[in-house]
Amino acid sequence: MNAPASLPNTSAFEMDRAHVLHPWANFGPFEKAGSLVIARGQGAKLWDEQGREYFDAVGGMWCTNIGLGRREMADAIAEQAERLAFANHFVDMTNDPAARLAAKLAELAPGDLNRVHFTTGGSTAVDTAVRVVSYYHHARGNPDKTDIVARENSYHGSTYLTQSVGKRNGDRIEEFRYKTEGIHHLSCPNPYRRPDHMTEAQFCDDLIAEFEALIARVGADKIGGFIAEPIQASGGIIVPPQGYLRRMWEVCKRHDILFIADEVVTAFGRVGHWFAAEDAFGVQPDMITCAKGLTSGYLPLGALILSDRIWAAMADGGHRWFTTGLTYSGHPVSCACALKNIEILEREGLLGNADRVGAYFNTRLKALENLPLVGNVRGQGLMLCVENVANKTTKALLPDEVNESKRISDMAESLGLLVRPIGHLNVMSPPLIITEAEVDFVVDTLEAAIRRVTDDLV
Ligand code: PLP
Repeated sequence: MNAPASLPNTSAFEMDRAHVLHPWANFGPFEKAGSLVIARGQGAKLWDEQGREYFDAVGGMWCTNIGLGRREMADAIAEQAERLAFANHFVDMTNDPAARLAAKLAELAPGDLNRVHFTTGGSTAVDTAVRVVSYYHHARGNPDKTDIVARENSYHGSTYLTQSVGKRNGDRIEEFRYKTEGIHHLSCPNPYRRPDHMTEAQFCDDLIAEFEALIARVGADKIGGFIAEPIQASGGIIVPPQGYLRRMWEVCKRHDILFIADEVVTAFGRVGHWFAAEDAFGVQPDMITCAKGLTSGYLPLGALILSDRIWAAMADGGHRWFTTGLTYSGHPVSCACALKNIEILEREGLLGNADRVGAYFNTRLKALENLPLVGNVRGQGLMLCVENVANKTTKALLPDEVNESKRISDMAESLGLLVRPIGHLNVMSPPLIITEAEVDFVVDTLEAAIRRVTDDLV
């Protein structure tokens, strides 16, 4: 298609480089290299403007769970856009897809998590969850119980509040002056980086003791909520030690601290379950935040699912207004899209596929630990990563300026595979439709990329 007359007759690449301020961009390299312009997607494959094909082992951004290019998704979106493209969802108005999606999420969510608040994505769901913590405790006569406990290496979104709550190394540049008051960070439960002298069980005991010590120091009357990704995603695919999440939840219950499971990545089949907190880790959260796989990225949508207990307290507490909401809350087209997406996940048994093929992927990838550069391969279901090290015994990292994970992902890209570089990791979260043959391609190509970059380093 020709560019409209009012735009310069230049490629998307040039217009992007001239005019777009990219999220999470590093301006120096961006100025030099510009962007990869993706033109088309089908299943787990992408094609760029020049027609080059890539296998997208990143799954968009942890989100294209059912795969791209599905006609029935396009039809569901088009039908809803034609019937009712938008309706106000504030106060006491709703629409059929939003109501049906809320009922479906209540059916899929664990325990008494029956009340759904729709948002525009993951950050806005987490932002609201953090504010519900204060609202809930205030309604129950504990107005000072507002502090939030999170962990190092967590990522909970990119609004001011959610980025203050999360704490990934390197993100917290001082220019943004994050909120620190009332936010506490515990150690990251990364078994690979536990102290050498500790078993995994002792490491877990230590982490629980650290939480209890924090509560003793700050006061249970001040701490209102604990937020955790069941498996830390962007912080490094951190599967916590056995029993850790359940024990953290038990501590929360003892001190009337609300447990928020941030399942923006882990829900909708990523690790083989609708929601990971209960099914994979035995935790019954008070709130769940989700997005991404909720629509498989076909349209933006997030949700905060909260318990009957929280809802009852909020409704009984004498508050008359819940003064938070977004223009696109309960957007009918996004909700219709999510309903069709969930129908496809169910009909095609994609949660089971994530489990089965994920286990195969894990086994095949684990073999890369034999490579000199690979210190650790870890993950669960279809959330996996390779951690690069300079020394396998000491687990020391290469200097940041070597940028080996970016070099590996660039090399993989030249071989037709997209993997995501984060710090010293190469991360993968492919669509749940991935087959074992495709896993073979991903692992073989990644291995070739790591070998070539390793050769360049010596
Ligand atoms: N929470 C987690 C665990 C995430 O990984 C992300 C995004 O990657 C978010 C929240 C923020 O979601 P969004 O980018 O849709 O605002």
